[in-house]
Amino acid sequence: MNRPLDAARGRGLLFIVSAPSGTGKTTLVEKLVQRIPNLCMSRSYTSRGPRAGEQDGVDYNFISRERFEAMIEGREFLEWADVFGNYYGTCRDDTERCLAVGKDLVLVIDVQGAKQVRNSGAASIGIFVLPPSAEILEQRLRGRSKDSEAAIQKRLEAACREVGDFASYEYVVVNDELDAAVERLRAIVLAERARVTVMRKTADNIIGTFHKEKTS
Ligand code: 5GP
Repeated sequence: MNRPLDAARGRGLLFIVSAPSGTGKTTLVEKLVQRIPNLCMSRSYTSRGPRAGEQDGVDYNFISRERFEAMIEGREFLEWADVFGNYYGTCRDDTERCLAVGKDLVLVIDVQGAKQVRNSGAASIGIFVLPPSAEILEQRLRGRSKDSEAAIQKRLEAACREVGDFASYEYVVVNDELDAAVERLRAIVLAERARVTVMRKTADNIIGTFHKEKTS
């Protein structure tokens, strides 16, 4: 996106990535934004406390439940949801600031939030990330976390409900192997950027150079 003709590009594209907990979507998207220029990952607000190693303003904007509820009241969220007893939400202004300057943005949000964005009428491109199987998801959940058995069961039950939503998204990526899955996500972003609707102004500028040659 650094070539001069791309300055003709308008508003940024809004991507939504959803997946059951434990599928590895955050890692995938972190790697994706490293590989693609002009693509950012949105930073959500949450009322849950930081886990070990998580930083405020980096992983999430960590805020109190009271502040979160005040932001809901003030209609400051493009979408928000209660996930596993904590609030999570995407700030409307943060999103708008990014898209307005032509940057593409990825929201890593749950299926409830994705539904709200779709219903809001905002143009978005949804990508659902699936684990290779329920068994592999369970192994990953047990492997990665110090969560209690009850918490793991809760996440597996939620996964069972969430995977049923995949057909509401435009794309499905199976996270079987990290690098391959990142490449599939990258292919989707690049293809969406090459749509005529996105490329129209750039293409018109190029077409203009042909007409200039003809008249001179
Ligand atoms: P975690 O607490 O493990 O970081 O995230 C729990 C769940 O909340 C994940 O499924 C994650 O995608 C979802 N989540 C994170 N940020 C947001 C957000 O801004 N909105 C919604 N709706 N879900 C979010």
